[in-house]
Amino acid sequence: DLILGIETSCDDTSVALVAQDGTIAACETFNQFEIHAGYGGVFPELASRAHVQAILPAVDKVMAAVDHDRSRIKAIGVTRGPGLIGSLLVGVNAGQALGFAWDKPVYGINHLRGHLRSPDLEEKRIEYPAVMLLVSGGHTLLAYLANQSDVTLLGTTRDDSAGESYDKVARMIGLGMPGGPAIDKLAKTGKSVFDFPRPMMHQGYEFSFSGLKSSVARLLEKEPDCAKEDIATSFVDACLDVLEKKLRRAVDEYQPKSLVVVGGVSASPQLRAQVDAICTETGVKSCLPPLKWATDNAAMIALAAWDYVAKDLEPDTVPTPSLAVSAW
Ligand code: ATP
Ligand code: FE
Repeated sequence: DLILGIETSCDDTSVALVAQDGTIAACETFNQFEIHAGYGGVFPELASRAHVQAILPAVDKVMAAVDHDRSRIKAIGVTRGPGLIGSLLVGVNAGQALGFAWDKPVYGINHLRGHLRSPDLEEKRIEYPAVMLLVSGGHTLLAYLANQSDVTLLGTTRDDSAGESYDKVARMIGLGMPGGPAIDKLAKTGKSVFDFPRPMMHQGYEFSFSGLKSSVARLLEKEPDCAKEDIATSFVDACLDVLEKKLRRAVDEYQPKSLVVVGGVSASPQLRAQVDAICTETGVKSCLPPLKWATDNAAMIALAAWDYVAKDLEPDTVPTPSLAVSAW
């Protein structure tokens, strides 16, 4: 049995077929980097239009991988939020229409729940209880997971997310979108010479990244010719120092079996190395999504939908798009 997952919350149109054990039968993702390249960020209306064009070809492609045999599809899971409303509507409408036409239940899935299940793709990795850090384009949050459906929020960001600060700093120093990978690459070549602030590092589990971003901007105003690679290195250092401190604090306080780090920024090699180091030192299991599944994809949405099917819950009958981070 497979679940058909659909993800269209931002600028990736992704459709996947995933088995309950996390095996991926097929996944097709169309990104929109070229469409948004000239705007310095995702242009919502253009994103929705691109989803409309890509969604059915993507469904067709993954279904070809199972010879269009619908009897193998147990249910459909579609991202219902948080995300861009126009983009979400394309996925939700496609999911509803397919569910109606194929007579399959449709589950509305919280995008963040998809990210938090991503380390169990391909093989099961997470052991509970776990401490989770979600670092993505729109969110930065720490949570305690007693099991896969019991999520206690420990802290979130008061302003920007970690991924957003990567993207904005990348833009300031003239790197393209997406900013994260570009910053990582440049950071490997520079020196950590600028002492950027580490906001809220010594306080609890909340985050704040806007001050870090502004201090990069102020430095560039004062010294427009300073070495960009040194800015990248110093910025990554400051960002990771904060994340590391909070992760260690949470591991110390909650004594989890695993440390789960997910979301787009978990693709950062610097962050991955840091998480592995913390885990080796503390004897906690390191649970990162395979690199390919760190950024947005439909496979994680399908896997999250399995949690509902396995529990035999009633489908969220009408998966209304939701903009809130509610209902894990
Ligand atoms: P959310 O999941 O919060 O709704 P999103 O879906 O837009 O937001 P993701 O796709 O999970 O975000 O992550 C995208 C973010 O990850 C971007 O900010 C991007 O810069 C960052 N990112 C991607 N790859 C890397 C990398 N290698 N290093 C650092 N950051 C990265
Ligand atoms: Fe995401």
